Amino acid sequence: MVDSTLRKDLDHILISEEEIKEAVQQLGKKITEEYRDKSPVFVCILKGAAVFFSDLMREVDLPLTIDFMAISSYGSSTKSSGVVRILKDLDHDVLNKDVLVVEDIVDSGLTLTYIQKVMSERGANSVRLVTLLDKPERRKTPLEVDYACFQIPNEFVVGYGLDYQEKYRNLPYVGVLHPDIYSDQA
Ligand code: 5GP
Repeated sequence: MVDSTLRKDLDHILISEEEIKEAVQQLGKKITEEYRDKSPVFVCILKGAAVFFSDLMREVDLPLTIDFMAISSYGSSTKSSGVVRILKDLDHDVLNKDVLVVEDIVDSGLTLTYIQKVMSERGANSVRLVTLLDKPERRKTPLEVDYACFQIPNEFVVGYGLDYQEKYRNLPYVGVLHPDIYSDQA
């Protein structure tokens, strides 16, 4: 288990591996029911959502397809620049498709607001937003998230796909990074 080397940089564990597993299973069931008779496209927002995405899609009993998009918004800092840029676009058209955009965390809401607009402009039949984590108190724009596994306080978290300077993505749980690790950059 990936733990001891990275664990020492955390202040505490916020969401355990078991809690994540349970929430992902519940969400998978819910999406399976709500999209019955449909073949949705699951869009993974790289890189942070990759771990959540791969676990979630295996809990969904539907003939879904997958696609990937990479967005830049944060650089290496822990604060949002508000700038959204597509670094890697989808491989397939979303025209008339039922799109589920899968994100790791919603903070200001700027990234998903932008992606939602892009999918609608491209003629998607429906666009719903899925996130593992939601920090509602940080919103800078009104955004309706359709499925959120956990609402969390305003703390910088890593693990289960989420990084700080590209590290900690392989932790199997979500933890709060010790402020000493990033205090010189925050
Ligand atoms: P938003 O556009 O909603 O402000 O930002 C969403 C993106 O910000 C996420 O995909 C993620 O990359 C980054 N982000 C926001 N809060 C955190 C956090 O607590 N930890 C990490 N690792 N990334 C975060």
